[in-house]
Amino acid sequence: MAPRKLAAGNWKMNGTLAALAEIDQLLADHPQPDCDVLICPPATLIHPMVGRAAGSVLNVGGQDCHAGAPGAHTGDIAAEQLHDAGASHVILGHSERRSDHGDTDADVHAKSVAAHQAGLVAVICVGETEGQRDGGQTLDVIASQLAGSVPDCATAANTVIAYEPVWAIGTGRTPSNDQIAEVHALMRDRLAARFPDGGDFALLYGGSVKPGNAAEIFAIAHVDGALVGGASLKAADFGPIIAALAAS
Ligand code: PEP
Repeated sequence: MAPRKLAAGNWKMNGTLAALAEIDQLLADHPQPDCDVLICPPATLIHPMVGRAAGSVLNVGGQDCHAGAPGAHTGDIAAEQLHDAGASHVILGHSERRSDHGDTDADVHAKSVAAHQAGLVAVICVGETEGQRDGGQTLDVIASQLAGSVPDCATAANTVIAYEPVWAIGTGRTPSNDQIAEVHALMRDRLAARFPDGGDFALLYGGSVKPGNAAEIFAIAHVDGALVGGASLKAADFGPIIAALAAS
């Protein structure tokens, strides 16, 4: 089984109910793309987006979850609550959660287990800082984050890995094709060595993916899709990225 292709959008802390009009436009323009499509809006929009997308190809996900069961954790959301709201996926270990909220690999590991137990697909993010890349540590950092963040219960069906260099997120800068290829080859090797179906995990690239660079990135070996921030907010930008992935 080849990895499934996935175009995933991360809306971060953007969007109110009015932004759901973008979903209508996206689905009108791309009703049956030849790839999976996911948008992870702010938690306030998960349930209304699920309703708006009912019967369509669009999957809806969360941007984080708590590792524990529902209870006394003000401001947090349990994985089973995301699932109850209609989410199918949850992003975990995004660099903004790692930097803004101190999420460690152990936290991401625990949250991933909770996500799997709730029936969610965990989209686990890894990526080096600019200092780590300049210091020649990229492959060691990625291997370490993968080992620490991805739990033993991960399968190709319940886990997607996103390589997101921290320095490329929201900056308009991207690694070279060779740099992306090198990291994705490492991730494929490590997953294949650890999991029986490690060759089938979808591996996303994320960091300043735009309509203008998507096709080139999707042509790189072991790139099975993208995790897209800014360019996922507008159907006019995310649509061409979906089309480029479907055509790849
Ligand atoms: C992200 O936040 O996951 C991301 C990749 O952002 P952007 O596409 O805006 O760089």
